[in-house]
Amino acid sequence: MRANTLRSTTSGLLALFIITTSLVASAASPPAGESEEPTWQRGNTHTHTLWSDGDAPPETAIAWYVDHGYDFLVLSDHNILQNGERWFDVAEDGRLTPAKVDAVEARFGEDFPEVRDHEGRSQMRLRRLDELKDMFDRPGAFVLIPGEEVTSSHRLAQIHINAINVDEVIPPQKSDSVQNTIQANLDAIIAWGEANGRPVFAHLNHPNFRKSLGASNLANMKGERFFEVYNGHRSVENERVDNRPSTEEMWDLALIARLAKGAGDGGLLYGIATDDAHDHYQADAVSVPGRGWVMVRTPNADADAIVTAMRRGDFYASSGVELSDVRSDPRTYAVDIATEPGVTYVTEFIGAMVGNGEVEPTARVLAISDTDPAVYEFTGHELYVRARVRSSRPHPRPYQAGDSEMAWTQPVTGSGAAKLKKPAATGTTTEP
Ligand SMILES: [Zn+2]
Ligand SMILES: [Zn+2]
Repeated sequence: MRANTLRSTTSGLLALFIITTSLVASAASPPAGESEEPTWQRGNTHTHTLWSDGDAPPETAIAWYVDHGYDFLVLSDHNILQNGERWFDVAEDGRLTPAKVDAVEARFGEDFPEVRDHEGRSQMRLRRLDELKDMFDRPGAFVLIPGEEVTSSHRLAQIHINAINVDEVIPPQKSDSVQNTIQANLDAIIAWGEANGRPVFAHLNHPNFRKSLGASNLANMKGERFFEVYNGHRSVENERVDNRPSTEEMWDLALIARLAKGAGDGGLLYGIATDDAHDHYQADAVSVPGRGWVMVRTPNADADAIVTAMRRGDFYASSGVELSDVRSDPRTYAVDIATEPGVTYVTEFIGAMVGNGEVEPTARVLAISDTDPAVYEFTGHELYVRARVRSSRPHPRPYQAGDSEMAWTQPVTGSGAAKLKKPAATGTTTEP
């Protein structure tokens, strides 16, 4: 492992060290009862099919992910699970064309598609999740995790929350404000997991979609801590637009509110990347498979273990950059990149600092590294630190022209919170 150097950015209240260190910390040992060596599992938790507004039969959507080396997939159709008997019209001008049925036949055999004539219309039966799991699940190699995009709204605000590892429909909840609607849906998902004794989680989707949500909505979530920092659908506006913060800026604003001001439940907030794929037949469309995913470190690759690992934050979001290790201890936060020949990587450590008893109002880049591993050394004043790795390789299926491959690791708390003048307040901040 090479020594490596960080160079600090010039802005900010606190001087940062030039760090020359070699890191010897090893990965944490697995929790009791988990003896196997953890491995990274690649998965996407947000994909649509003909069961809602996607353009492909579920088997066609899943096959792409299997063919491209994914280890797990959540089909997350709007307010529905892939259950029951559903026949879909086959029509040249419809979402299921004869050519798409031919493609199913070519892939899965001519006896596979169930087609019928019904009241003068040709129809194909959509496969249920239990059938799809029989077809695709392979222990240790691939698992379909049941899920739903619980799709609600309050006035003009779109409130979409993915429920992961639920196998009953969670009806979308309504309430009297944006925040209360978010919370009612989170609570319904959490309650389902508790009632069924199953690890589940919920992620708040595309906060900037139709300018629906803001940082305070992320800050004030209680009992759940996942949101989409990257959604591959081109209408969601992950990026900053005019004076509206990007999803990544929202993440930092929400982290500061939660960790320094006690907003929500005061806990960390985790960022995930997803495809939100609806368009399964082209490489360059509004929302295609393969734009964003998560890498989850778990000793077992079944649905419950993957969800449990994500709940403890042992994952990172990616749009192409692969990491071999992410680790932290009270001294350092380190990112090992699975580097590829001819590709360069820049790692930015991002966080908010506490100085003179106050937290800085916005996060900033605390240090930049072009080495592998990239190592950040805590000064003791960080409220939290997270990392973003940018590669020089263009994204093969970009969300925006010019995107390069990225990874986002999860934040860890520093000891800055203990240096805040006032104890963290309880309760929530107000909604705009
Ligand atoms: Zn959505
Ligand atoms: Zn969606």
